[in-house]
Amino acid sequence: MVRDTNAEQVLAGEASSSRPKRQRLSSPVEEEAEGGENVGEVTATVAAGDDEVTTTEVRSGMLMDLDLLDCPVCCHPLTNPIFQCDNGHIACSDCCTNLRNKCPSCTLPIGIHRCRIMERVVEATMVPCPNAKHGCTDKFPYGEELDHEKECSFALCYCPAPDCNYAGLCNDLYRHYHANHRGCCETFTCGFNGDAWMHISDKILVLQEGRGGPLVAVQCFEEEQGVNVTVNCIAPFAPGVSEFSYQLSYYSHGGKTMSFGLFEMDRIQKVSFETPEKDFMCVPRYFLDGRESLKMKICIRRRD
Ligand SMILES: [Zn+2]
Ligand SMILES: [Zn+2]
Ligand SMILES: [Zn+2]
Ligand SMILES: [Zn+2]
Repeated sequence: MVRDTNAEQVLAGEASSSRPKRQRLSSPVEEEAEGGENVGEVTATVAAGDDEVTTTEVRSGMLMDLDLLDCPVCCHPLTNPIFQCDNGHIACSDCCTNLRNKCPSCTLPIGIHRCRIMERVVEATMVPCPNAKHGCTDKFPYGEELDHEKECSFALCYCPAPDCNYAGLCNDLYRHYHANHRGCCETFTCGFNGDAWMHISDKILVLQEGRGGPLVAVQCFEEEQGVNVTVNCIAPFAPGVSEFSYQLSYYSHGGKTMSFGLFEMDRIQKVSFETPEKDFMCVPRYFLDGRESLKMKICIRRRD
């Protein structure tokens, strides 16, 4: 938290992490600090001047409204360069271009004069990962934390068992699943071709590696033309976390076989029962031979 650069500001606190959609307040000043969505703790480290670096004063405070660091026109996080009109209204460079250098607040020209102090404030602002409350300690320049969130290993994963509301870090979820639901799932061993038989009406078959290892959800979606089958690992999309490839094969009653595989198994944090748009094997209806179950085999391999 404490940085040694001059007057660097570090934002912390859960509140700053919950901004899925940036909504601006009509009057930020009126927003209460307590419970406000965009309140963050600000820690400013002020080092002494060049010759007197013996003492370091740490100052803390609250940034009342993180929305102040968003472009007031497009609401995206401000990045340099930031421009201001003669009346002091600010806008990001994209907005200056889109507005043909006319300030939307007062119509004066905007896009020539930089707002240097705002640029420095934005540059000096670090915010925690939105998953800080789950243990992620990474901090990012304001605005970049949302990119990180997509591949943060601390993202919550949800239990695929019906009627179970458990959510946790993926390894905790794997342990939870083994402890609570192992009776209703099959196990798989990497590199081995294993059975993946399922009733179409069951819609989901959960496979777990060994005892309390990663969970793989095989799902089927009945469509007019046949049944679409997906295979997803329940894990965050973080480097090195539960990276698998797979080969799925379907065997029809009449001896026909079809196969589908992905070098990189898709990872999901929560199973969805919405019809998939990509990465599925379509078993045509005439391949089903009127049966209500899918006789499949799956080989899952760990990617190194
Ligand atoms: Zn903008
Ligand atoms: Zn203006
Ligand atoms: Zn993170
Ligand atoms: Zn559960």
